[in-house]
Amino acid sequence: MNWGCGLNPGMLKWVRGDTCSMKKRLTIIVFAVAGFVLHLFFIHTVYAAAPLKFSVHHLDSHAPGATVLVVGGIQGDEPGGFNAAALMATHYKILSGRVIVVPNLNFPSIVKRSRGIHGDMNRKFDTLGPGDPESETIVRIKSMIQDPDVDVILNLHDGSGFYAATHVNRLRNPGRWGQSIIIDQEIMGPGSTKNTTPFSNLARAAATCAKDINQQLLEPIHRFHVKNTHTASGNKEMAKTLTFFALKHQKAAFGIEASKSFPTSRRVYYHLLAIESFLTQAGVGFERSFPLTEAGIRKAMDQDIALSLGNKRVLVFAENVRKRLNYIPMEKGRDIQFAVNHPLMTLVPQGDYFSLFHGNRQLTRLWPQYFEYARGLEGIQMVVDGEEQSIFFGSVVSVKDRFLVKHIPDHRVNIIGFSRQKASNESGFVVRRKNFAKRFSMDRAGRIFRVEVYESGKFNGMILVDFRPGNGAVKLVNRGNNPGGKKQFYQ
Ligand SMILES: [Zn+2]
Repeated sequence: MNWGCGLNPGMLKWVRGDTCSMKKRLTIIVFAVAGFVLHLFFIHTVYAAAPLKFSVHHLDSHAPGATVLVVGGIQGDEPGGFNAAALMATHYKILSGRVIVVPNLNFPSIVKRSRGIHGDMNRKFDTLGPGDPESETIVRIKSMIQDPDVDVILNLHDGSGFYAATHVNRLRNPGRWGQSIIIDQEIMGPGSTKNTTPFSNLARAAATCAKDINQQLLEPIHRFHVKNTHTASGNKEMAKTLTFFALKHQKAAFGIEASKSFPTSRRVYYHLLAIESFLTQAGVGFERSFPLTEAGIRKAMDQDIALSLGNKRVLVFAENVRKRLNYIPMEKGRDIQFAVNHPLMTLVPQGDYFSLFHGNRQLTRLWPQYFEYARGLEGIQMVVDGEEQSIFFGSVVSVKDRFLVKHIPDHRVNIIGFSRQKASNESGFVVRRKNFAKRFSMDRAGRIFRVEVYESGKFNGMILVDFRPGNGAVKLVNRGNNPGGKKQFYQ
C-alpha cells in the first residue's frame, strides 16, 4: 500500500506551524500467520496546540482506468465516513484505475469529536473568510478535486435519521439525511469535460448505487434513497459544499450519508457498499482483505495498529490495548517523536500524559517515565520456543509457550509483570505466560507483555512478547531497517 507521504508530508503530525517536513519514513514488517503484512510507519513530532494535516493515500493499480477521489472526515463527528475511508486506504487493493483517499480531511475536529472546531468545513468551498484557520486545508483539497485526472469524487458523511421523499415520521422525512446518496442536480452541466463518463448523469449513477446497496441491506428499513438538493436552483447552504464546488469545476461528485442512528461499524458497512458500487460503475477493479460484515469491519478497523516511539525503541501495540499504560520509557529532554501505522491514529499531549487516538476514540493514555536513552544496543538475543532469535527493539515476538532473554553484560533486563523471580535482572530465565501477573499486559486479554533493557539507569529499548494463540510459532515484528548502522546485537 502506498501511504502517499511523499506527496503529503504533513500527515498525522503535530507541527509548529512553520515546518511541515516529514522527519523520516520507516518500514515495519509484520510476520503474520500466513505471510507478510507490510506496514509503513511515519515519524512525527509532538508539539502542543498545532494543527493536524490530512493525509493522502494513492491506491494506484498502474493499470488504465478511472480515478476516484474518496474524502472522509470533512466533519469530525461522523466516524462512519472517516473509518470507511481509512479502511479503503489500509485494506483495499486497486486492480485497475486509481483511488485517491483522504480519510481525515478535518483531522483536528476528528480528534476533538467535533463537527468542526472552526465551524462547518463543508460550508467553506464557496467563499472563505479572511484568515480562516482552515484555508490551507481547503486550498489543498480544492486543488485535488480540480486535478484533471480525477473523474469522480465521493464525500462521505454520517447523516441524521433516514431520508425519505415524503414525511413518514420524525426520523424519516425529507429533512433527514441518513441512508441517502446526495446529488446537487440530475445531470452534469454542459461545460463538463467528463460528459462521456458513466457519471455525467448523476441521478442515474446515484440510483444505481442505491439499488446496489439495497440488495445487501441488513434490514429492509435501512433502505437507501437518492436525495437531490437542487443546489443550483437557490439552495444557498448546499452551494457552499465540497460536492457543489466539484460540480462547478465539471467534476461529478456525490455525497454518501450513512445514518447516525447506527453504530460506527454499520455506518461503515453502508459506506463501503456505496463506494464499491461507485468503483464498479467507474470500472475500477478492487480487492478487499476482510469480509464485508459488521464483525469483519470492527476487526479490520483495529487490526495490527501500533505506535512506535523513541526512534523505534518503544512499540505500543494498540489493538485491544489497555485504557492506560504506565511507565512508558520516553526520552528525557527531547521532543516526542512518534510513528503510527494507521491514518486515523495520532498522539496528543495532555499535560502529564499522552492520549493515543484512533479517529475520535481515545485508545489509551500513555503515562511516561522519562529516561536518558542508551544507544549502544539495537536489540537482544532471545530463545523463543527453543529457537534462538535476534530481535530488534521495537518488535513484537510471537511466543507459543516460553521464551528466555539471553544475558547481556552490564545490562539489566526487566520483564514487566514477570512475577516468578525477584531478581533485578531477569535475563536467563525461562518465562511462560503463567509466570506473568496479567494486569501488567499491554493488551486487555493479558497476552502481550513488555521486555525492557536498561544500562546503568539508561533505557535501551523494549520488545513485546505476544502469547496470543494462532499467531504461529515464530511471529515477530521486525523493524525492517537498521538506522543504528554498525551497532548491532550483543551476540
Ligand atoms: Zn456530514
